[in-house]
Amino acid sequence: MKKKLISIVIPVCNEEQNIPLIYRALKDVWAKLPKYDYEFIFVNDGSKDGSGRAVEALAVVDKNIKYMELSRNFGQDIANSAGIDAAKGDAVVMMDADLQHPPEIVPKMVEKWEQGGEVVTGIRTYNHGVGFVRKIGSWFFYKIMQVISDKNLIPGQTDFCLIDRTVADAFTNFSEHRRLTRSLINWLGFRRAFVEFEAPARLHGESNYSHLKLVRQAINSFVSNSLVPLRLAGRLGFIITLFSGLLGLVVFFERYIFGDELGWHVSGSAQLAIINVFLIGIVLMALGIIALYIANIHIEVSGRPLYVVRKQMNIE
Ligand code: UDP
Ligand code: MG
Repeated sequence: MKKKLISIVIPVCNEEQNIPLIYRALKDVWAKLPKYDYEFIFVNDGSKDGSGRAVEALAVVDKNIKYMELSRNFGQDIANSAGIDAAKGDAVVMMDADLQHPPEIVPKMVEKWEQGGEVVTGIRTYNHGVGFVRKIGSWFFYKIMQVISDKNLIPGQTDFCLIDRTVADAFTNFSEHRRLTRSLINWLGFRRAFVEFEAPARLHGESNYSHLKLVRQAINSFVSNSLVPLRLAGRLGFIITLFSGLLGLVVFFERYIFGDELGWHVSGSAQLAIINVFLIGIVLMALGIIALYIANIHIEVSGRPLYVVRKQMNIE
C-alpha cells in the first residue's frame, strides 16, 4: 500500500543558519513516523542571506526537499500560502524555520489528524525568549480580536498547524492579499483539534518582526477581519447626537419656554457649544452611513469563496 504523504511548509526569511538544523530535527522526527512519506517545502521569502543556497544544498542530496523562491519578500503569510499551493501531501503542516515551532510536536499533530481532526492547531502556552512588551502586546491583540471579530482567533493560536488535504484545497481559494493565515483557516471551519506546545527562544538570527511591524500587522488584522472599526464612527455619532440633542431640548425649554425658571443661566456660548456638538454628531453619523457602504464593498472585494466544500462524489 502506498504510504500517506505529509508536506511540511516552511517560510524562510534570512534563516541560513537554521535551515540545516530544522532539516536535521525534522529527519529525526521522521524516524518516529515510518508510516509516512515526507516532503519539506522551503519557501524562500526574499532572504538577503544565504538561505537559498542552504536549501539548494540539501535539495541536491534529498529529493523530498522542495524549494520555492519568491521574487521578493511577500511576508510570511503569502509565503505559507505559496507553500500550500505547491504541497501535494495528504496533510500539510506549516512551521517556522527558526525552530520556535518544535518539530517533535509533528507526530502528535499527525496522531490527532488520524483521529479525525481536519485542522490541528498548535496552541502556544508559553513563548520563551520574548520580552515583556511583546507578551503584553500579544495578549491585547488576541483580546481585541476576540471582541471585535466573532472569536476569530484563539488565544495562543499560532501558524503552527496541520491541515488535511481538503482544507488545503479550500485554502487555495482565498484571494485576499492581506492575509492572516490563522484567521483564514479558522474562517474555513472544519473539524478542529489542538496540540499545546511551548515555544523555545529563536535559535539563530533575529525575529523578522519589529515592534512597529507587529503593530501594523495587528491593525491590518483588525481591519481585514472585522467591520467593527468601520462602524465605530456611526455609533459614536449616534450617541453624540442623541445626548447633545436631548441636552439642547432641555436647555431650550428651560430657558425660552419656562423663562429660566430653574435659574441655570445657560450662556449663549454654552448653547452654541451644544448646537456644535449636535452637528458634529450628525456629521459622524453621515460618515457611519458611508462606512456601511464601504463595508459592503470590503466584503465583496475581499473575494472570499461563498462556501467551502469538504467532499464531492460523482461530480465533475
Ligand atoms: N518569515 C518569512 N517572511 C517574512 C517574515 C518571516 O518567511 O517576511 C518567516 C521566518 O523565516 C520564520 C517565520 O516566518 O520562519 C516566523 O518569523 P519570525 O521567527 O521572524 O517571527 P516571530 O517568531 O518573531 O514572530
Ligand atoms: Mg520566530
